[in-house]
Amino acid sequence: MYDVMIIGGGISGLTLAVKLGQCNVKTLLIEKDKKSGLIYKGELLQPKSLEVLDRINTLDVVKENGFILPSIQFHEYTQKQDGSMERLSVNEFRYDLIDSPYNTSLMIPHERLKELLFIEVSKYDSVDYIQPAKFTGFTEDPPHEKKAIIQTKEGEQEIHAFFYVGAEGRASPTRTSMEVDMKSTKYNHHFLTVSFPRPESLNQSTIITTQNKFVGLFPLPNNEVRSVLLIKPGEFKTMRKEGLESFYRAYCELMPELDGYVQQIDTWKKIQLMIPVRHNVSSYVKDNIILTGDAAHSVHPMAGEGMNLAIQDSDVLGELLCWMFKKNKTEWKHLKWYEKVRKPRAEYVSRLSHQAALLYSFPYRPWQKLRIRGVKQTEYSPVLHYKQMLNTSGLGIWKFNLIDRMKQAGILPVKAGVKQISEKRESKVMFTKDDDYPWYRKWDGRK
Ligand SMILES: Cc1cc2nc3c(=O)[nH]c(=O)nc-3n(C[C@H](O)[C@H](O)[C@H](O)COP(=O)(O)OP(=O)(O)OC[C@H]3O[C@@H](n4cnc5c(N)ncnc54)[C@H](O)[C@@H]3O)c2cc1C
Repeated sequence: MYDVMIIGGGISGLTLAVKLGQCNVKTLLIEKDKKSGLIYKGELLQPKSLEVLDRINTLDVVKENGFILPSIQFHEYTQKQDGSMERLSVNEFRYDLIDSPYNTSLMIPHERLKELLFIEVSKYDSVDYIQPAKFTGFTEDPPHEKKAIIQTKEGEQEIHAFFYVGAEGRASPTRTSMEVDMKSTKYNHHFLTVSFPRPESLNQSTIITTQNKFVGLFPLPNNEVRSVLLIKPGEFKTMRKEGLESFYRAYCELMPELDGYVQQIDTWKKIQLMIPVRHNVSSYVKDNIILTGDAAHSVHPMAGEGMNLAIQDSDVLGELLCWMFKKNKTEWKHLKWYEKVRKPRAEYVSRLSHQAALLYSFPYRPWQKLRIRGVKQTEYSPVLHYKQMLNTSGLGIWKFNLIDRMKQAGILPVKAGVKQISEKRESKVMFTKDDDYPWYRKWDGRK
């Protein structure tokens, strides 16, 4: 019998397996896919995820394989009738406003990060790994005796564990078996995503937009760049009919420097269609079954948060399970700590990502003006800028209130300047270890 069975060897499952391996909890991790395919997923690590990776001793190797991005630039253009572009604004949001050793973002290819986490998992004898193995459901036994049914090369097997973690991503059979409610939102746009070689000068996260066009460019190591191009639903088909030229044109119009680079994508097979959805489940835990990562919440990719929520869920859940086994407090009721810490944080980030998505969802001139004003006011005001970066970073939450939103919309004035956020304020809005792992204080009085 295993202490914990993790279903899904994505970023969330692997991070959790590392945490459990490091505290010697007997764990089984299963993954249904034989090997990785050409699937682009989250590649941008936010500051809190860097902190988590540091806590599990993998930050140095991740940095060696990643590309540090200390800020994100927003370029707004208008396209004139003759097709030429006129720049309307450039703004920059900077992570270094946050007083933390992790105040930067980092790009790393998704599969490379998984490989690095897998190398770490392999160091621990207490973690078994089966791949390919597909979870199909639970037996009908009473909760304490419930077993997971998996399909492997050897046929069907039943696995008994004390706790089961559904980390299977968006389409989670564990979530289905829990019968929890789920709210979903769809969007009026899709994305095409692909990585390709980049000019050396493209070394910052850059979002380039016009009234009705959007491309996001996120530099990767080895002089590559991951790109996301916003398209209308159905447009992918039209573009494919037109040929790759239509794809190259979409990029080069927005950033002429990409000419000669984007053309190195020589087949549509390399380009992936990404349909954004947002969902949040009503509960992350039922009896001894727990959901993490995209199985619990999937967020619009605009704010680059999906993979980060997955890593941060697994950090808190892993720490909690380690504590439960170490202290022999394996009653299911303690799992509520995980939901208590992670659900409000993930829901807030999901809301922010949704709001960011809306800013780019409507192809109207007044909408572009509103967006330009919002970004400009946020950069201009030290408090709004700080809030924006803190909330994005995952290192803390300082919520935007109605007055902030009115300032961003230009209804109220903002005060510019270099005002520092006071230490007292920072101590209230940044997450401490006590905030991340509150059960230590409640039960042990100390960490
Ligand atoms: C197409 C796509 C593009 C994305 N692009 C971005 C982006 O640009 N930026 C961003 O921040 N986020 C992006 N995301 C989201 C981000 O990648 C996810 O939030 C993150 O990968 C979540 O990690 P996870 O471990 O929860 O789930 P996943 O990464 O989905 O991993 C789940 C794993 O479980 C396995 N699995 C599934 N079912 C079973 C089963 N029955 N039995 C065993 N194993 C199973 C899967 O094969 C997979 O390996 C994207 C997601 C998708 C799907």
